Amino acid sequence: MSDISVHPLYEGTFSVAKDNNFNRIGKNDKPQKGALKLSINPFLIREGKRNILFDAGLGDLFGESTHIDTILSNLDEHGVSDFEVTDIFISHLHFDHMGGLAHRSSGYWERTFPEASVWVSEDGWNKLEANIEKNRDIEQEFFYFLQTMDSVRFLGESESPVDHLRVERIGGHTEHHYALYYENGNHKYMMAGDVIGSKGAINRSYAAKYDFNPKQSMKMREELQKKAFDEGYAIMAYHETDSPIFRLTGHDPKKGYTIEPFVS
Ligand SMILES: [Zn+2]
Repeated sequence: MSDISVHPLYEGTFSVAKDNNFNRIGKNDKPQKGALKLSINPFLIREGKRNILFDAGLGDLFGESTHIDTILSNLDEHGVSDFEVTDIFISHLHFDHMGGLAHRSSGYWERTFPEASVWVSEDGWNKLEANIEKNRDIEQEFFYFLQTMDSVRFLGESESPVDHLRVERIGGHTEHHYALYYENGNHKYMMAGDVIGSKGAINRSYAAKYDFNPKQSMKMREELQKKAFDEGYAIMAYHETDSPIFRLTGHDPKKGYTIEPFVS
């Protein structure tokens, strides 16, 4: 099958302060004092008439430098309209990974991709619902709107709800975090959300305080790198600035994996 291609939909690099506003900065800029530097890349997988997204970007939930038009114009560059997105898989239910599912550009909430099935972890969804009041007002409103969408489909621990797509619960960053896989012949992609959020996660052993379960995250990070290398998956890294899709092409016991940018 030659009509398969994958594309990062780069939304920008941001300085993210405690107020949760995403302030746009250049790729090479430093973040503001006390803030975190973060890039955002949902991924588009094109397969014939199917257009699949892995995570949905920021939407307009994160302040003035974020807008729903970002993901729409990124898709447009690949000739994909809002109505042509068929499936959206969400790695975990943090708002910076799903903000693009709905917007209120015309003053009321509406879905961004009217024809798309939105695939999420049922346990993750229930947990978010139970804790929704801990989130910002705008996020609560957004979630209440998502609850009215009949296109949200629930998934369990490990499932393959449509051809060539698979989710596997890995936990770690959030309790019900998924690794997302696309596999079709020699087209093999793995997206592990914030468990492997950037190239910098490769070849490093670390436990991060921001993870729900830092040890599980660390364990899965190691297992997934090995799996990507052994089985030939290209890795899609949602928060990576320079080369959001890369392959692990070699392994040295001392230096670790060799990383090579992947362009489809
Ligand atoms: Zn994230």
